[in-house]
Amino acid sequence: MSHFPVLHQHLVIVGNGMAAHRLVESLRKLPGAPSRITVIGEEHSAAYNRIMLSPWLAGEIDHSGLLLPSAAADQPEKLHAAPHIETRLGLRVTTIDRAGHHLHCANGEVIDYDHLVIATGSRSFMPELAGLELEGVGGFRDLQDAENLASNTIKGGAAVVIGGGLLGLEAAEGLRKRGMQVTVLQRSDRLMNRQLDTTAARMLTQELGSRGLHIITAANPTEIIGNDQGQVCGVRLAGKNGIIAADQVVIAAGITPNIELGLDAGLDCQHAILVDEYLATSDPDISALGECCQFQDSTYGLVDPIWRQVDVLAKRLCAQPGEPYRDQESATKLKISGISLYAFGPTDAEPHHEVLTYHDPQQGEYRRLLLRAGRLEGAVLYGDTRMGPWLFQLAQDATQLDSVRQSLLLGQADTEALFSEHLTQYQSSEPHAESAGSAHASASCSDAKSSDPKNVDFKSVDSKNSAAAQEAA
Ligand SMILES: Cc1cc2nc3c(=O)[nH]c(=O)nc-3n(C[C@H](O)[C@H](O)[C@H](O)COP(=O)(O)OP(=O)(O)OC[C@H]3O[C@@H](n4cnc5c(N)ncnc54)[C@H](O)[C@@H]3O)c2cc1C
Repeated sequence: MSHFPVLHQHLVIVGNGMAAHRLVESLRKLPGAPSRITVIGEEHSAAYNRIMLSPWLAGEIDHSGLLLPSAAADQPEKLHAAPHIETRLGLRVTTIDRAGHHLHCANGEVIDYDHLVIATGSRSFMPELAGLELEGVGGFRDLQDAENLASNTIKGGAAVVIGGGLLGLEAAEGLRKRGMQVTVLQRSDRLMNRQLDTTAARMLTQELGSRGLHIITAANPTEIIGNDQGQVCGVRLAGKNGIIAADQVVIAAGITPNIELGLDAGLDCQHAILVDEYLATSDPDISALGECCQFQDSTYGLVDPIWRQVDVLAKRLCAQPGEPYRDQESATKLKISGISLYAFGPTDAEPHHEVLTYHDPQQGEYRRLLLRAGRLEGAVLYGDTRMGPWLFQLAQDATQLDSVRQSLLLGQADTEALFSEHLTQYQSSEPHAESAGSAHASASCSDAKSSDPKNVDFKSVDSKNSAAAQEAA
């Protein structure tokens, strides 16, 4: 696979989702962008913030809250000579002719490209269940899905959400807030089993239950049942739960990358379209990014890594020098108002982990950290999550935390105070110790290799932390 910079005259991007939008905005800010860009999106609406579909469904924001930032509107001074950009909405690309360098579209149109970016995202994974075709059954992936869910809401009616992960819970809460009686069916024995340990999952279940959500764990749906009109009316479960009544069923059981275009064109694919560390596919004239791509063993379902992919690809397309893409851990937040939850890393403690826990059931506070050889590997925060980005940065930087471990659960201020104390002790016991200022200037978190307090640079953590927090906001 090629990772050499390439210059292209006509760049075509298939897909007009979050990755494509961010790529175009990045290209507009770089010198050397292709002179002509065509974006082809199957959805009829302009690119929007898919993440915000959950608060939209919950009625917390209106359509304006779905708008994505535009460099032209927000930072016109940062734009370079604008490429000619054409966006084709409501158009599906059906095949890629690699030899002829053109695309065939569902309306019969043929569009030429010099370089192609596939950014076709994912669709809702549909489990093998009878009844998926019934009226009132669907996924929660795009604006149309969200609008269907909202318009089919029956106040006091019953909804079943299959899937108790992030997306399923956000859909469930949205429907509950619209007045439906919602049951969540979770196959695992706990909610959000990929992010939460049993204690945090129990707290979340209690909170959602107190709001009126009915949650069934270890659930095994066997069939979606319809009435004579082909409208869904229930979900059958294996075991003693029988049939749960449903006027709407939302399938939120995972995602399937949209790889068919690449697969049919003969690009190397596994779970998704394979890319190298510069987002090139097995065809040097075609790149891929976002949820439709696979880098090494990873596929994607959160925007954080996709933003880093965009940075890499934008630079490559503008023939700018740039670092290759590398996978990094991502942190998870649940977007249900009134519930603060932040998690990253492994959920279950293994024998090599040191587990630090703080639990105040009355205040609804829970923090659990997993350390390995003095370095933070995972965290679950429920209740007060303000220290989440700071802990995440400590984990990213593999900061050695032995000397401050007892204060970690209390947050950044206490940990810094303890660090200063250690530093003072260290300096007074070392005849030739450096000053605190020079220790901060010379050491960085990422290269801290021992429990020597000089090696922990919380100032650098601080600034990275605030950058991460701004990005998240
Ligand atoms: C409800 C919801 C909430 C989410 N919340 C979060 C969150 O809190 N945090 C987070 O990090 N991530 C969240 N995500 C995930 C995040 O939205 C995705 O990771 C991100 O949108 C992926 O970007 P993408 O461009 O790869 O795919 P998409 O944004 O899905 O865009 C792909 C686009 O390609 C189009 N397309 C597909 N095939 C074709 C074709 N053949 N021709 C033309 N167009 C085509 C599709 O119609 C789609 O518009 C959420 C997702 C959903 C659905």
